[in-house]
Amino acid sequence: MALEEYKRKRRFEETPEPPPKLEKKSSHRFVVQKHRATRLHYDFRLEMEGVLKSWAVPKGPSLDPADKRLAMQVEDHPVSYFDFEGIIPEGNYGAGTVMVWDLGTWQPLSPVPVNGKYVPGTEAEASAMLAKGDLKFRLKGKRLKGDFALVRMHSRRPGSKGTEWLLIKKHDEYEVPGYDIEQYDTSVLTKRTMAEIGGDVSSAEWKSDRPASRGTLKALWLAKAVAKLDQKQSTKASPQRPQRNTEGKNREEQTAKAVAKLDQKQRTSASPQRPQGNTEEKKTRKAKLRAS
Ligand code: MN
Repeated sequence: MALEEYKRKRRFEETPEPPPKLEKKSSHRFVVQKHRATRLHYDFRLEMEGVLKSWAVPKGPSLDPADKRLAMQVEDHPVSYFDFEGIIPEGNYGAGTVMVWDLGTWQPLSPVPVNGKYVPGTEAEASAMLAKGDLKFRLKGKRLKGDFALVRMHSRRPGSKGTEWLLIKKHDEYEVPGYDIEQYDTSVLTKRTMAEIGGDVSSAEWKSDRPASRGTLKALWLAKAVAKLDQKQSTKASPQRPQRNTEGKNREEQTAKAVAKLDQKQRTSASPQRPQGNTEEKKTRKAKLRAS
């Protein structure tokens, strides 16, 4: 796959994501990015063969061996995606907020257990396991620890691209029955929540700890994003409050009018004028809607 697909899907003058670059050497890092795109999911990435092999996990990884988590293999990502956290602007592929949910190192495990335990394997074994669709590995992350397997499903469904895998925790001392990923909602890099990364919540702290080390292009994008946010906030803060007050006044007036109309309606209801009654009702409803 290399990085052609990654490149084809993105416009690097618009997204702060790193450009495609194949690394000659691989260390063994992994990252899990929480990604609020069209649908919230977690991206699980293993550094391997000069890229980040990537899977989108809708429910996120689990430390409970009973959870077999669907993991859709997606395009390889460049290794520099490893610590990417921020906002992919609207209109771009994967638009939304990205948080570094976990990171650390991984180790391939030998496909054949010794005395019922998995032992460290080699790089070549890892590549072979990946190709075969049964990759076993050990994670040393901040949140994810212990032995896991990624197993490709044999879908007989016509049109299946063969990209469906299962991410499964193996039994070991790190397993956590009933693991709840929702309990961990901060970045392991910046401690920010999704709302803080996404700019839904503003704070001086949030502005100062934004990563500013991704070069001029990203700095420009960042400046634009911050400016946009400031603008948003000022339009939200200033004209809305006084407006709300006038609305409050209007509401009183409208209620008074509606009551008057109702009175009138009741007075005239002796003569059956249904269509008129309906329009009056509609008007009252509209007035109420306007007021709310
Ligand atoms: Mn994603």
